[in-house]
Amino acid sequence: MAIVRDGMPPFALYQPASIEDALALAGRFGANAWVLAGGLDSLERFKDRSILPGAVIDLGRIDALRGVSQTPNGDVVLGSLTTLTEVAGHPLLRERFGVLAVAAGEVASPQIRNQGTLGGNASQDARCWYYRGGFQCYRAGGNLCYADTPEGMNREHAIFGASRCVAVSPSDTAPALVALDARFVIRNGGGTRTVAAEDFFVGPADDITRLNVLGPGDILTEIRLPPTWAGATHYFEKVRDRPVWDFPLVGIAAVIRTRGERIEQARFVLSAVAAKPWRLHGAEAAVAGKTPRDAAAAAEKIAADGAVPLTHNAYKVTLVRNLVKRAILGKEAA
Ligand SMILES: Cc1cc2nc3c(=O)[nH]c(=O)nc-3n(C[C@H](O)[C@H](O)[C@H](O)COP(=O)(O)OP(=O)(O)OC[C@H]3O[C@@H](n4cnc5c(N)ncnc54)[C@H](O)[C@@H]3O)c2cc1C
Ligand code: SF4
Repeated sequence: MAIVRDGMPPFALYQPASIEDALALAGRFGANAWVLAGGLDSLERFKDRSILPGAVIDLGRIDALRGVSQTPNGDVVLGSLTTLTEVAGHPLLRERFGVLAVAAGEVASPQIRNQGTLGGNASQDARCWYYRGGFQCYRAGGNLCYADTPEGMNREHAIFGASRCVAVSPSDTAPALVALDARFVIRNGGGTRTVAAEDFFVGPADDITRLNVLGPGDILTEIRLPPTWAGATHYFEKVRDRPVWDFPLVGIAAVIRTRGERIEQARFVLSAVAAKPWRLHGAEAAVAGKTPRDAAAAAEKIAADGAVPLTHNAYKVTLVRNLVKRAILGKEAA
């Protein structure tokens, strides 16, 4: 088991000033390298020795990875190192992709949002305390899940999509990025690939050792938002233990297009119920063509279909049903 210490272990630090230099370093050190953005997830793990990288590649000096811009075809491009504070306050995002701006503004505390980056927030690892505490569970390469036992502390864990591991995706921005059909641009020594948000995040049945497709040598350079959901009605809510700052117990990011009195199309994506942002495909189909009141009733009825609660997290089923209803009717009317 890892021991939490006050001192940071030594590591080789590289601070490239260009993407090309960062890619060369990432290629050179491969699986022995650790890419560092804001460091909020990473430094904690170095300190408790759960990760001991041979080389740390700090992207902080690469200005080309920061900022928000717009392409002629209407895509909004966010550099992976753009801080959560900038995402939350950026006028273009607030106006066109409000669900992402609100989600970024709900992450942790102002200090963490000032330092934490969008790419790092979306790429952060599981927060299961057994795993973070150094237990040799499935996700850490062992042959047991400590959370999914009758005595396991699993109040915060998954109700959907579990496969041996029941850890959840803790990111607030991830469900908003899936709802908006974001595309993740990833570079490595071999070239550039663009991955749809839904394929960027991975569940334990596909790969139990990571929450996303980033592998050795990869650098996430930007996240692109296509105009598909620009200006749509949106809703974001995060249920947490402490409003001051906390990870989600369950969250919802929703975008809705209406025609007249009826819902034309909707996206409902949940955080903290599965190892990846969890789309409610059934509820999305059920609301199309309905008035908000009928849509809310239909969505609530089926939103939690397929949920498999653990010993201590059946309350998440109720939260899922209520959150999807609120996403359609608003907090007060639901
Ligand atoms: C006290 C506390 C409370 C928190 N509360 C919340 C919360 O309520 N909601 C929430 O969503 N999050 C929360 N977080 C998580 C926090 O937001 C994330 O740790 C942070 O956003 C990670 O961003 P970072 O830039 O610091 O990433 P880093 O720690 O630098 O990186 C995180 C991971 O992403 C990888 N990575 C980062 N950028 C790139 C890139 N460009 N290319 C390839 N790989 C990359 C790193 O290798 C690492 O694996 C909390 C964290 C703390 C410490
Ligand atoms: S939930 Fe996943 S990360 Fe947590 S103990 Fe089980 S296998 Fe490990």
